[in-house]
Parts: sequence; C-alpha cells; structure tokens
Amino acid sequence: MAQLILLPGKERSAFKHHPWLFAGSVGRLEGRARPGDTVEVLADNLRPLGRAAYSPKSQIRARFWTFDAEESIDDAFFKRRVAAAVALRQSLPELRGQQGLRLIHAESDGLPGVIADQYGDTVVVQLTSAGADKWRNAIVAGLVKATGCARVYERSDSDVRGLEGLGPTTGWLHGEAPKTPLSIDENGVRLAIDIAGGHKTGFYLDQRENRALLGQLSAGKDVLNCFCYTGGFSLQALAGGAKSVLSIDSSGPALAQAQANLALNPTLPAERAQWQEADVFQALRDFRKAGKLFDLIVLDPPKFAPSAAHADRAAKAYKDINILGCRLLKPGGLLMTYSCSGGVGLEMFQKIIADSALDAGRSARIVRRLSGAADHPVALNFPEGEYLKGLLVQVD
Ligand code: SAH
Repeated sequence: MAQLILLPGKERSAFKHHPWLFAGSVGRLEGRARPGDTVEVLADNLRPLGRAAYSPKSQIRARFWTFDAEESIDDAFFKRRVAAAVALRQSLPELRGQQGLRLIHAESDGLPGVIADQYGDTVVVQLTSAGADKWRNAIVAGLVKATGCARVYERSDSDVRGLEGLGPTTGWLHGEAPKTPLSIDENGVRLAIDIAGGHKTGFYLDQRENRALLGQLSAGKDVLNCFCYTGGFSLQALAGGAKSVLSIDSSGPALAQAQANLALNPTLPAERAQWQEADVFQALRDFRKAGKLFDLIVLDPPKFAPSAAHADRAAKAYKDINILGCRLLKPGGLLMTYSCSGGVGLEMFQKIIADSALDAGRSARIVRRLSGAADHPVALNFPEGEYLKGLLVQVD
C-alpha cells in the first residue's frame, strides 16, 4: 500500500477525525497509487493516522475510510459500514416502515462519497468520489445484503464527479428496471419518483419531516409553496386541510410531475391547488404589487452557495426572497424558510432571516428550528454534513 505523508503540523484535522485531507496538507506520496486506491496516511513524523482513498485530481486529495491504522479496507469493510448505516435507520422509530429513505449519508455514515436512497424495493446509489467509485461492487453487494432490495440503480451523474476526474455513469447495477413506475408513500401521500431523470436520486428525502410538519400547520390556511419541485410540500398542505395551495417552480417538467403526483392522490382536493411556472424572485414581486397575502409561506430554494466562497452573493439572494416572504404574510402568518447551502451556516442563516424581517418592517420570532430528517445524520467530526437548516418564523 502506498503511503501518503502529510506536511509538518497538518495532522490536526486527522486527529479530530475529519474525513477530508486537502491537497495543501499533503507532503508526498511514497509508492504508487491510482485514483481511488487505498493509501496509508502518516503524519510527517511517520505516525500512522489511518487509511484513506487517494484522489490525485481532487483538491480533497484523500478521504479517510478509517482512523484505525490497522483496519483492512476490503469487501468486508464495506459490508460492515453499509450494514451499520442500514441498521441505524431500522432502529429509529420515525424511520421504520418508510418507503423513501436515505440509507447512506456519505461522510456522516463513515462512507465518504457514497449516497444511497431507497424507494420501495429499489435502491439508488450516487458515488461522488474516486474511492467510492472504486468500491462500487462491494457497496452494492452490501446494500443488497442489508436491505434485501430487488434492484439497485446507479445515478452517478452529479457535477462534483468532475472534480474527482470521474465522468458520469448511470444504469442498473443489480436487478432490472421495474415494470411499473416507481412511487412511494410519504406521510400518507403517494409520490412518483423519477430515479433516472429527477433531481439528485429523484427526490428530496431530507425534507420528509418538515413536509409532515407543514401538513400539520396547514388546516384552513392559504399556503404559498415556493420552489415546489414535484409538489412534496404542496401535497402535504392539501392533505392537512389547506384552504388553497399555490405552488411555484421554474421547471416545467417538475411542475408536470407535481400535477401527476396530485392525480395519484384522488382523495386530495385538487381544486384547491394552483401551479405556476415562474421565477420565484419575480413571482413574489408580482404578488406584492397585486396586494396578495398568504397565511403560510414555504421557501425551499436550491443551493445558492455550494461553498463559503459564494456566501455573500447567496446571502443577498436569501435576503431578497425572505424580505418578500415576510411582506406577503398576513399578520400572525408563518414563514417556513430553508437554506441547503453548505456555505451558509445556521448562525449566518438566522441573521439573514432577522435582517429580512427587519427590512420588511415586521417583527418576527422563531417558533421552530428545522433540519434534515433522521435518515440524514450529521457526524460530529463532519459539521459540513449539516447542510440543510430551516426556521419556522411567525411574523406579526
Ligand atoms: N421543496 C422541494 C425541493 C425544492 S428543490 C421538495 O420538497 O421536494 C429546488 C427547486 O427550485 C427545483 O425544483 C428547481 O426547479 C427550483 N428553482 C430553482 N431556481 C428557481 C427560481 N429562480 N424560481 C423558481 N424555481 C426555481
């Protein structure tokens, strides 16, 4: 096994069990290693720090599989890690019996670069690092063994693979395409999942608990759901007894899927739902001009800041929609607002919302802090795993 030797003083993050080693920390590679190969990581005084996947093209030059310098990285290792991740989901009461479930949340489950989402008896994997890519077969075998799923689809077409020198790959790795379209039940609502063409692995599972909360808050309310994608929040609001639900997205195909999802739920009052293909920034301004008001507004925008370098520009965009969100609420209304930007931390997000309410001339209070669902754990040594943060704010 090749050895990756760090520069003097650069072992601190490994001591803290942070899984990433940046290029600037690496002194030299002794021996030969190809992308994804396992290397032994040593401090500059040659103290062993653990074993990692080498990624020569990436700024994240290596990702630790283990901080135990003796642990073998082999098929059995992946079987153990995958089984532990699946067992955690099975042990949590709110996850038991869920048809849509994140089984592996990458670094936070000790498997950097590995995402696995289950939709019924289909599992979708997304491999985003050279190491994950190399161990594809072991990971898939582990998933089949731990879940008994009928089929595994690979959806490794995320842009971040480019940073690792990897091209896109998609297709069936186990079993065959199902005969009928995939769908899941989420909190009593049926949702079709397009694993090949949808965002990420097809759906935003991280918002499951927050969608359920929206349902509980919606009875008798006029709800505005911004960035609705395939209608997850909208359908929960309808199921919860909303008086009206107006949903906005700039993607025609996402809105078509959202309407198809509503049709999958014939007991929901379709006449209370309205769908609008528009840019949310513009639509909110138009509502303001038209004097429209709502009781409950959801703002779940895409990632405006993938990293801290984009934080300032992202902050402006968050502030823009949140000022408008506050202004469009009736007195006593609720704003359910999110950021899924890694580059914007919870503290910064809270400050942006505080400034937004102030600029809107409204006093407001946090009534709930929101985060990703329980199947999206955050490893304590990997705070970057906490990308999704939300606030439920009541506006006077
Ligand atoms: N809330 C959704 C997930 C939202 S993902 C759920 O629970 O499933 C973000 C969505 O924002 C995507 O569907 C994307 O098409 C849409 N989007 C991105 N930029 C937009 C814009 N400027 N205006 C409207 N929609 C936008």
